[in-house]
Amino acid sequence: MIEQSILEITSALSRANNIVIVPHKGPDGDAIGSCLGLYHFLKEKGHTVNVIAPNDYPDFLKWLPGQEDILIYEKDVENCKELINSADIIFTLDFNSLSRTGDMEQPIADAEAIFVMIDHHLEPSDYAHHTYSDSTMSSTCQMVYQFLKKLRAVKHITPQIATCLYTGIMTDTGSFRFRSTTSETHKVIADLIDKGADNSLIHEKVYDTYSQNRMRLLGVALRNLEVNETLRTAYITLSQEELDKNNFRKGDTEGFVNYALALGGIKFAAIFIEHKTDGIVKISFRSKGSFSVNEFARAHFEGGGHMNAAGGKSDLSLENTVIKFNSILPEYSEQLSI
Ligand code: 5GP
Ligand code: MN
Repeated sequence: MIEQSILEITSALSRANNIVIVPHKGPDGDAIGSCLGLYHFLKEKGHTVNVIAPNDYPDFLKWLPGQEDILIYEKDVENCKELINSADIIFTLDFNSLSRTGDMEQPIADAEAIFVMIDHHLEPSDYAHHTYSDSTMSSTCQMVYQFLKKLRAVKHITPQIATCLYTGIMTDTGSFRFRSTTSETHKVIADLIDKGADNSLIHEKVYDTYSQNRMRLLGVALRNLEVNETLRTAYITLSQEELDKNNFRKGDTEGFVNYALALGGIKFAAIFIEHKTDGIVKISFRSKGSFSVNEFARAHFEGGGHMNAAGGKSDLSLENTVIKFNSILPEYSEQLSI
């Protein structure tokens, strides 16, 4: 982000009354953590701030400071539309295209606010007046920290802000192990701990709070694991019936795809989850090394993301989605079998 943008944002902030912060649909730890980190900062500066998420977010995030103030667009459409309309500044966090906000896309596109995008996904679209996009960053939370640094506001990071930003960096880096984790990530994390993030407690609250239903659903997922040794691919399916039997709640399947990738020799992993009410199959892709799941998801499943972690969807049945996936795989045999 260039210095001129920082000057313009600083000046816009000095005039702004109403600020709205928006994460992507199906918000994860990084999306919610970055929105809440920025929320606390702006609120303490005296602005009226609302975080509006397109839809609900997982239970394992429902302890973050300030999360009780998050508005859910699909549950409160009229009120949220009004807030979007009257916003002076709209920050869009952790996504690269307005289409990732689902039903909020049109109301946001129609808003007259100044738009600021902070995001680490590839190929950002150009709707924002100020775009801070860097796909080498581990997470949007790390970028919010950098953004505060550019605003010369690191000293104003409270324990609440530190907790939110730590959480998103932790979840988006697989607890600091993905390749996006740099020495700079660790420096930011160290500073967040110094500023009051209780690291051990945060890990416990996010990772060690499975419900029994969630643990049993993981058992089902692991039983459904399919492995293609030749193409070094493993995938998991979960049908709506299997989700229902285990009282599925949003976020319960988070991280399941990593079990498929944890197999030795496997380079490419996927999980296919049936969403009967939306009539789609939601897919998560993961890879080791140089196989780009971002390109794979873009080319075949209306999706995208990062090189080693991406997502997409399919309008086919669960069974036919898996058939499609298996029929595409051989096209990638050269990249996958080496
Ligand atoms: P996850 O599999 O954890 O839902 O998402 C992995 C990454 O892919 C995240 O960075 C997420 O934002 C991105 N992603 C997930 N689903 C989609 C999608 O449908 N479209 C696009 N463009 N990106 C997605
Ligand atoms: Mn992210």
